[in-house]
Amino acid sequence: MFRPRLSRRHAMAATAAATVTAAVAFSASAGAFSSQDQARHAVQGGKAKNVILLIGDGMGDSEITLARDYTVGANGRLNMDKFPMTGAYTTYAVHKDGTPDYVTDSAASGTGWATGTKTVNGRISKTPGTDKAVPTILELAQKGGFATGSVTTAELTDATPAVLASHVTDRSCQGPADMATCPSDTLAKGGPGSIAEQSVNHKVDVLFGGGKQRFDQKVTDGKYKGRTVTEQARQLGYRVVTDNASMKAAKGGKPVLGLFASGNVPTEWTGKTAAVGGTDPQRCVTSNANRPAGTPNLADQATKAIQLLEAKQKSKHSKKGFFLQVEGASIDKQDHAADPCGQIGETAAFDRAVKVARDYAAKHPDTLVVTTADHGHTSQIVPLEATPPGLSSTLVTDEGQQLKVNYSTNTPGQSQEHTGTEVRIAAQGPQAYRVLGVTNQTDLFTTLREALGVR
Ligand code: MG
Ligand code: ZN
Repeated sequence: MFRPRLSRRHAMAATAAATVTAAVAFSASAGAFSSQDQARHAVQGGKAKNVILLIGDGMGDSEITLARDYTVGANGRLNMDKFPMTGAYTTYAVHKDGTPDYVTDSAASGTGWATGTKTVNGRISKTPGTDKAVPTILELAQKGGFATGSVTTAELTDATPAVLASHVTDRSCQGPADMATCPSDTLAKGGPGSIAEQSVNHKVDVLFGGGKQRFDQKVTDGKYKGRTVTEQARQLGYRVVTDNASMKAAKGGKPVLGLFASGNVPTEWTGKTAAVGGTDPQRCVTSNANRPAGTPNLADQATKAIQLLEAKQKSKHSKKGFFLQVEGASIDKQDHAADPCGQIGETAAFDRAVKVARDYAAKHPDTLVVTTADHGHTSQIVPLEATPPGLSSTLVTDEGQQLKVNYSTNTPGQSQEHTGTEVRIAAQGPQAYRVLGVTNQTDLFTTLREALGVR
């Protein structure tokens, strides 16, 4: 369901927002672009030249608070806390018959924000009952003449980036050798192939992430039979980069496929995982011995992606800008693993990518920046004296205080689970007022579509 363009709720929300942001403007700090200007753009409708969407996977309010407490302190503010407009949205998935499934995964939630259609868990940009492809915001942006990019710390074929440039029955169909659960999507059956094949066939201008192992798989049928998906990408015109140096050296003029790890990109931080009965107070290690030295961080990837997308539009003499999605994927993955240091490090890395987007928007106010999550997750900050069931760990924060975090959405030893809570959505720039109040995840599709002016 789409709401009418300027519903009563939004008109009221915009008025309320103007009041709220007047206070923001009053305390504005100096910058290339004042908070008052930000607020003006946020309450405006109108079109955005560029859209940057940042998704913290599994980044519920408790994950944000944990990273804030640890890194900048309870009274500090992360970059993602500084948007002029903040609301909440509901994330539930649906069953095949359309009834609510209260806890979503990243595939169904991604399909929600990328297409405006809710679907069943595991499905990638296809309908819940009939399993039919639904157009995505990236596809609409491409059709509308925008440059497009997708950047992630997960495999590029993982659910969140997958929802933008592929349509498959199940998220597990990542490479040509992974098609067991997607029989009707195979090339042999006349389907569009795996997520990896579809992503490069879409000619997305910038694809940065992990998942090299999927692109190293051999195509099983059709024009590229016997070649790897990476070779297919090269034939389609892609330049392939695999580390920070080759990424930074990439020039515009060609689409760029960055494959920075075999699987997920290794986390930035490490530490003790949470344990039954807790851990000794620990400080996180802000490095990872298993992370190769040439691995680009998410902020550098976002910076390069913006540069490449801008270069493409300039070379085309296009007045249109770009659509870029940036995902901090391993907030979720370390939450599943009950690894608080891994999780906090990834949230902090994601927050530095948010700063890249906000710094760009400060110089390019016709940019809509949205930061949100796809669903909530496990980690909870509990009192130091609590003896919670499940896994917990005591951390010593940068401000020198102890903090206890608990992971109890599943039996110890099992993967910890997503939760069905609403999550934060924050924005600045044209159409940003649409995130105010309590909206539905599918409304984000409308916000992006209205900002880009695409159908
Ligand atoms: Mg994800
Ligand atoms: Zn997850």
